[in-house]
Amino acid sequence: MTQQPPVIEIRNLHKAYGALEVLKGVSMVAPKGHVISLIGSSGSGKSTLLRCCNLLEDSQQGDLIFNGEPVTWKGDDHNRRPADPKQVLRIRTNLSMVFQQFNLWAHMTILQNVMEAPLTVLRRDRAEVEKSARAYLDKVGIGDKCDVYPAQLSGGQQQRAAIARALCMEPEALLFDEPTSALDPELEQEVIKVIKDLATEGRTMLIVTHDMKLAADVSDHVVFLHQGLIEEQGAPDQLFGAPKSERLRGFLSAGH
Ligand code: ADP
Ligand code: MG
Repeated sequence: MTQQPPVIEIRNLHKAYGALEVLKGVSMVAPKGHVISLIGSSGSGKSTLLRCCNLLEDSQQGDLIFNGEPVTWKGDDHNRRPADPKQVLRIRTNLSMVFQQFNLWAHMTILQNVMEAPLTVLRRDRAEVEKSARAYLDKVGIGDKCDVYPAQLSGGQQQRAAIARALCMEPEALLFDEPTSALDPELEQEVIKVIKDLATEGRTMLIVTHDMKLAADVSDHVVFLHQGLIEEQGAPDQLFGAPKSERLRGFLSAGH
């Protein structure tokens, strides 16, 4: 039996904004069915890493490999871009992102929000997309909100709609960027429950979070980023129970 390549593999990734080096050689993998949490102080490069991963940001050096398929680049290390727009689209549609601020389209109903990308990007059949959109909205507990607009929902409901929207793309992995940070604590729990259910189902997920309890509960693997480098990574028990790095100990004891 041949071993399945990881869904996401990042090798020695470097990313700078002008003179500011944000990622200084990051390597990590997300095997199929695993949940990886990314933790670290504000400004450590977590969002940038996620955005480089689905090619929303360019990077200067290193490899991004999806299911064994490396991204091909053109240009040189100082000015490289993905070479193949079809590959970019394929990767992006296979890695659905959920943002801190939900990013729902205000002028569309919840159902339209969930159906939009499968219809326009994947050009799937409308009746089929509507059926699966309704099923995903049911799954996240807001099946009764199909016909309302985002502004009529609580933050927790909006974020669950955003998760349904991501799922409706049938992606290979979900990328979450601080999915609960904009929510009041009681609304946070509804979103955490959905994320936990997805983890139990064996979804491949990369989750940037400030919520150490969430990271400890759902992750197979936790990555601690410090100033653009992985300072420590490992199983949650080890990382939270017996952190080796002084910086990680400091980060955890600072109440994160
Ligand atoms: P985190 O998500 O861990 O808080 P970010 O990845 O957002 O960190 O940011 C890492 C660093 O990159 C920060 O110093 C931030 O100011 C900088 N940065 C992020 N986005 C941009 C951008 N578009 N242009 C310039 N600098 C940026
Ligand atoms: Mg961030």
